[in-house]
Amino acid sequence: MALSFESARSMILGNMTTLPYESASLLDIVGRVLAEDIRAPWDLPRWSNSAMDGFAVRSEDCFSGQALTIDGYLPAGSSSSGISVEPGSAVKIMTGAPSPAGCNAIVPIEETEEKDGKVIITGQVKRGDHLRLQGEDVAQGELVIAAGTILRPAEINMLASFGYQSVTVIRRPKVAIVSTGDELVEPGEDVGPGQIINSNDYSIAAAVSEVGGEPILLGIARDDRESLIEKLTAGLQADALITTAGVSMGDRDLVCEVLQELGVERQFWKVDIKPGRPTAFGLKESTPVFSLPGNPVSSMVTFEEFVRPALLKMMGHQHVIKPFIKAVMKEATKKKPGRVQFLRVRIAKNGDHLLATSSGDQNTGILSTLLRSNGIAVLPAEREQIQAGEEVNIHLIAAPDDL
Ligand code: AMP
Ligand code: MG
Repeated sequence: MALSFESARSMILGNMTTLPYESASLLDIVGRVLAEDIRAPWDLPRWSNSAMDGFAVRSEDCFSGQALTIDGYLPAGSSSSGISVEPGSAVKIMTGAPSPAGCNAIVPIEETEEKDGKVIITGQVKRGDHLRLQGEDVAQGELVIAAGTILRPAEINMLASFGYQSVTVIRRPKVAIVSTGDELVEPGEDVGPGQIINSNDYSIAAAVSEVGGEPILLGIARDDRESLIEKLTAGLQADALITTAGVSMGDRDLVCEVLQELGVERQFWKVDIKPGRPTAFGLKESTPVFSLPGNPVSSMVTFEEFVRPALLKMMGHQHVIKPFIKAVMKEATKKKPGRVQFLRVRIAKNGDHLLATSSGDQNTGILSTLLRSNGIAVLPAEREQIQAGEEVNIHLIAAPDDL
């Protein structure tokens, strides 16, 4: 009995546990999940400062044509201690320099003329102009980034501006990848009759890296018990194991059997999807094992729909299932009832909606169709046909055209 797509995905996600945390450098945290609350150790800005190159003034001294005596200079990086703006005077100041005592506005250089040690104000000046006030961004002690936040460049800038060099984040999963098959040779090796280059290792490793995991390539296991036992035993040391091929009905498809012998409890085998029906999922204690079909398109599509959300959950993400976007099918599509079909499509903007066009031959063996796709239309299991003009759910795998 095959499982429905939704049940299979729920079963996987229900068994994923968040990995432990570790300390990581700011250069290695983008896209990862913060595991500690960050409170501001000081005000941001730390001191009131100038937002422009210009003159620190008392706004009440300024009206158009007024000359003020230049009494001091504050370049970026200088200290304003001992410097103050006295009535009738101004202090020359550069962007970012601390604003001196007594000043309540900055006049940008463009709105002044400098002559004989004096500055002539040519524009209007209001109290507070071009001043960045101490703590106006963040106050000392404030919770600025909560545990659970996905770290983007903006969060990383905030952390660096508070002097952090490393923070506590959820660890990246080490994901072992084992390809299986007697017909496989590695890229660069001679390809004999009937042999196929192991390309899955590279697409799966790339997909693991793309979600933030660390791929570990364990190479090819042959379709015999001894070879499978060796590779799969090594693979089970990782945080997750992905195998490709050897899960169909062939008489040499031994992956599931050997996994079971190694203590992996099968949660399911076969899902009502196309492509990817023979996908299997098991657990050795809490270590997930994803057995994906060998066909390159099937392994990539099942990675996208099952493994990607699972790895994100291990990395502490909350929203792990890609949201659907809606697109209108350009042409009618026949499908096998009883299975969710993942249709490789090209999504483009068309007036006020997105249009989905089949990328070409949907046969599982046709890889070039996937290269031409920027979306996967997830067509409901019960349907036999999708009409032209019907709205369908899309998982984007790249940006739509003409946006
Ligand atoms: P299997 O699931 O073992 O029957 O494999 C299905 C198809 O995928 C066969 O045509 C295999 O040759 C192909 N295949 C299996 N493993 C790989 C791999 N690592 N790289 C590329 N193609 C593969
Ligand atoms: Mg095989």
